Amino acid sequence: MAVSPDSLTMIAIMMETALTKNSLCELSINLEALAANYHFLVEQSAPSECAAVVKANAYGLGLRAVTRTLEKAGCKTFFVATLDEGLALRNITKKTIYVFAGVTEENNLALAEASLRPVLNSIQQVELWNSRGPAALHFDTGMNRLGISKKDFLKLSAGIANGNVIKPTLILSHLACADEPDNDLNFRQLKKFQALRPTLQSSPRSLSASSGIFLGPKYHFEMVRPGYALYGGNPTKNRPNPMRAVINLKARILQCREVTRGETVGYGATFRSDKRRQIATIAIGYADGYLRASAQTAYVSIKGVLAPVAGRISMDLISVDITGIEGVKPGDWAEIIGSTISVDDLAKCAGTIGYELLTTLGPRHKRIYIGANI
Ligand SMILES: *Cc1c(COP(=O)(O)O)cnc(C)c1O
Repeated sequence: MAVSPDSLTMIAIMMETALTKNSLCELSINLEALAANYHFLVEQSAPSECAAVVKANAYGLGLRAVTRTLEKAGCKTFFVATLDEGLALRNITKKTIYVFAGVTEENNLALAEASLRPVLNSIQQVELWNSRGPAALHFDTGMNRLGISKKDFLKLSAGIANGNVIKPTLILSHLACADEPDNDLNFRQLKKFQALRPTLQSSPRSLSASSGIFLGPKYHFEMVRPGYALYGGNPTKNRPNPMRAVINLKARILQCREVTRGETVGYGATFRSDKRRQIATIAIGYADGYLRASAQTAYVSIKGVLAPVAGRISMDLISVDITGIEGVKPGDWAEIIGSTISVDDLAKCAGTIGYELLTTLGPRHKRIYIGANI
């Protein structure tokens, strides 16, 4: 049977509608809150420029929607991790894009052609780039991850003094412990970063990501480059979160059942009921980014009441204890991340950080954007 392209489109639309109606799991992303977070960080860091880090598909929230929203909010500079991310972003915006990984022998032409600016992390990268276009220089000040070392900086400075090395459009370094305001490594990194100035007179500088912004104006330099805080994560660990929540994740209850004393729930029979309990099975699992390691302490919220996870987390399902919550039935929503349990809270249950949780939220989720017309 021949199927016309038009009817294929119709089928696709029908399938999508069916999916929406039957959606078992919904990740909503509040773009208004994202814009508000950007404005807040602009205020916190003024008069420095506030750029945005949108690597890893904007921390899992969707590169296009996030970039469009931030652009509208006034963001002029974006950072991604890799060439591929840079190329994807170049299709979305004409603004300045830096690529943290820098340049390789294979990718330097592609970077230049797409007007992407590499963050040059070593003398080798400086040589590879060979002044093909604007680029940032990354200096290591104590993180010992990426960046030009002190020894190489001296070599490079000699070159700059002789006028034969690029003038970077940005000088950056990265703090190792910005989320610990009392850690003296912050101050030592700050001092080292300040000391670069005499040789690299007029280039703008950037030291701070989300948490660094909250270490105070000394850490702001000419540009800050937050990621996590934009997406609602807490940049001030152990203190109240000054950011607005951006994501909300909910999943449907598929089935409710009663277990009696001594019965077990789930793989490995790790949850053994001490009495008659009501259990709800919910349509989310580790393939949806609900981390398996969180089983012992995680909880969801149903009708505003906390329900602890019972037993192991499966690929597509979790079981929770709803004993004492009235009127729960299949089809009801459970809040997985939202007003009662934040990204940071849920990450903690898995012994990890919200960054990992956000970037693990799977491609399975239907992402719903609210709060802005993009
Ligand atoms: C990821 C990253 C950032 C953003 O960090 P957040 O803590 O998410 O704000 C900034 N700079 C560099 C070099 C990064 O790798």
